[in-house]
Amino acid sequence: MFLAAAMIASQLSSPSADRLLATVEKLASFPTRNSLSSGLADACEWIATEYNAIPGVKAELMKFTFPRGRRIPEDTPAVQVVAVLPGEADARVIVGGHIDSLNLAADAKTGRAPGANDDASGVAVALECARLLAGKKHRNTLVFVAFSGEEQGLLGSRALAARAKESGWKVLGVLNNDTVGSSMNLEGQSDKSRVRVFSEEGEHGSRDLARYVEWLNAQDDNGFGIKLVFRRDRFGRGGDHTPFVEAGFPGVRFVEVLEEYSRQHTQEDLPQFVDKDYLAHVCRANLLVLEALAMAGPAPTNVRIVRDQAHSTTVQWDGDPGESYGVYWRETTSPTWQGMETAEGAGKHTVQGVNKDDHVFAVGCLPGVPVEAR
Ligand SMILES: [Zn+2]
Repeated sequence: MFLAAAMIASQLSSPSADRLLATVEKLASFPTRNSLSSGLADACEWIATEYNAIPGVKAELMKFTFPRGRRIPEDTPAVQVVAVLPGEADARVIVGGHIDSLNLAADAKTGRAPGANDDASGVAVALECARLLAGKKHRNTLVFVAFSGEEQGLLGSRALAARAKESGWKVLGVLNNDTVGSSMNLEGQSDKSRVRVFSEEGEHGSRDLARYVEWLNAQDDNGFGIKLVFRRDRFGRGGDHTPFVEAGFPGVRFVEVLEEYSRQHTQEDLPQFVDKDYLAHVCRANLLVLEALAMAGPAPTNVRIVRDQAHSTTVQWDGDPGESYGVYWRETTSPTWQGMETAEGAGKHTVQGVNKDDHVFAVGCLPGVPVEAR
């Protein structure tokens, strides 16, 4: 199967800004979704019902325990929502946000904590993606998560990452959306055309995933793109992608470019400060990646550069004759892929006029995350 990124983009369903905002408003209407409050279970039950209303999607209320620690006075029974849209293969793609909220100035059990942007916005993105992806047949399995215990130290994502590792899940990517609903801050700065994607380098492949996220969105001619940040996360802050990365899975974090820190973890994190059109753009950026990874073939192995002295570059790999492959390249100093050609065969391709000494090459299934050639 050959699916170019631009083709996937042209066939995408459009996220509904109004539906996204309605989800944010509903979640913010719970007095609090603090992980230590009864509001957490109420909100989880509501979102599970929303997932179960989507044909083909099955939501699980995942029960686990918050261990005693920072912001957790004693071992506490916990819940979060894991919804699955099964594919034909066992490879999985995970998208989510955290459903729990926090107000640092109020009582954990009773204080008002609307958490509209942090992080009803991310939960809404995952739900909207499920609605738009259901009803089509996919090769790989899609997993939509409303994490809990994020504000107490990434407890829900840690529990799911542990389950994924124990169960031997093959995870093609984790897209964590946390605080993705606002395009401006109170300094008057605004950026409506980009979302940041944080990633770290390592064998887990998170940086490769981030570059692919950027590449796919750069092929989508809609005036919205990705600002890559080559870091695990923001200073002194964490996110639900990190436990997956630590467990060896590729994971990235989507977060708006200009956060308004003064509203975070306060009763001022309200739906009226969420920009629904910006949120819809972020949702589309996720959807494009999910569509691609949902159809992705197995990653090529043994991807290597032929070490001849020539002006062109030949790349070889072990692949499947039933798959189509793309060969990508970028200058060694470029953070993003700069070119891609569809390979003529399932194991070898020459890119004319691009020198191996000055460029990094990679090979990926079309679609699929490219694997760097060595
Ligand atoms: Zn958050």
